[in-house]
Amino acid sequence: MALMPVAEALARVLADTAPLGAEEVTLGEAAGRVLAEDLIALRTQPPADVSAMDGYALQADDIATTPATLTVIGEVAAGHPFAGRVEKGQAARIFTGGVLPDGADTVVIQELTRRDGDKVTVEKTAAKGRNVRYGGIDFKQGAVLLKKGRALTDRDLMLAAAMNYPRLGVCRRPVVAVLGTGDELIMPGGDPRPGQIVYSNGFALTALARAAGAEVIDLGVARDTLEDIGARIRKAREAKVDVLLTSGGASVGDHDLVQKALKAEGLDLSFWRVALRPGRPMMHGRLTRDGLGAMHALGVPGNPVSSYVCAFLFLLPLLRKLSGRPDVEPQAEPAILGRDLPPNDERADYLRATLEMGPDGFIATPVENQDSSLMAPLAQAGCLLIREPHAPAAKAGNRCRILKFGF
Ligand code: AMP
Ligand code: MG
Repeated sequence: MALMPVAEALARVLADTAPLGAEEVTLGEAAGRVLAEDLIALRTQPPADVSAMDGYALQADDIATTPATLTVIGEVAAGHPFAGRVEKGQAARIFTGGVLPDGADTVVIQELTRRDGDKVTVEKTAAKGRNVRYGGIDFKQGAVLLKKGRALTDRDLMLAAAMNYPRLGVCRRPVVAVLGTGDELIMPGGDPRPGQIVYSNGFALTALARAAGAEVIDLGVARDTLEDIGARIRKAREAKVDVLLTSGGASVGDHDLVQKALKAEGLDLSFWRVALRPGRPMMHGRLTRDGLGAMHALGVPGNPVSSYVCAFLFLLPLLRKLSGRPDVEPQAEPAILGRDLPPNDERADYLRATLEMGPDGFIATPVENQDSSLMAPLAQAGCLLIREPHAPAAKAGNRCRILKFGF
């Protein structure tokens, strides 16, 4: 099979992938969740004309010339409206959030008044409507304020509460099973024997998936045997996960058994070689399931950098699509290249690059050693710098395109 362009591979991952069903959560649980329906205001805010300040509610005509002395006929505070009407020559004491009494059209702040018993003298004129927040200036009942597909921010929850929703319909979170493979891997904190290394990539993949709103099931590390890998694939199936993310065992060596094990479980392979660096042996396919949508199987290489770049490029968009978000793909941003680069070959390059703010925007400088096993430079990098296949040589100072981490 020839190398598949990144865009085509991603299109295959996303094809026929519908958002998961909806569920209801309380506002307290809704941060970061994706709205499954448009949210229509159930009330008007503010529900009536209210005062923006502490002061006196009155008729602006009465203070056209100042000083002007008016009779105070009552008091209004937030939550305690005033039943009476403010007539000509009268005022009502009012506090922030108090409903503007009938008859009044303006609020004068208390700092511009002198109070003496039931009289108040206003020292300065004010335009009609001053310090009044009119009913509905924030939003009106029936308005669509938050759209289906929106990942709810903290401010959105404030708004949804004000719209009078105690619960929200949101898309179900995708469930991802993370499976490592390799006889050489031991857990962090262990004591590696000769030839052993520490399992590391799964921790980044798990955190990445969680940050994208997924629930993660940890399937541990399989030995490099068809039996062990197969048993863990079946676990993922039984757990009804939406995505099985494997790392390692993805190329064509004798010990690279992931694809074989998946095929034994009925994998419908979409591709397994992408014109991508790092990450060429990246694989995707689907396992059909009775009564459920297909389980995606995404096999990323074991090298930590490759695994992360592949998950960033393919798992994140897949999770976004499953989560019901319309903005599925990471958007490349412009930056300025920090050093010269040679021409590129037939594979798209996603170079790990540091980011710093320069006078004309972000400067992205690819780290010196782009080996796909190096975790220290990956941790230092702030973005991936995209080099299209066959890109010509580029000079420091040229424009370039980057994908910032944390998308
Ligand atoms: P593989 O894709 O299994 O051929 O692995 C490629 C390289 O990545 C090998 O050097 C592995 O030891 C290493 N590797 C595989 N899985 C992991 C992992 N989970 N954490 C860290 N390194 C790994
Ligand atoms: Mg391996």
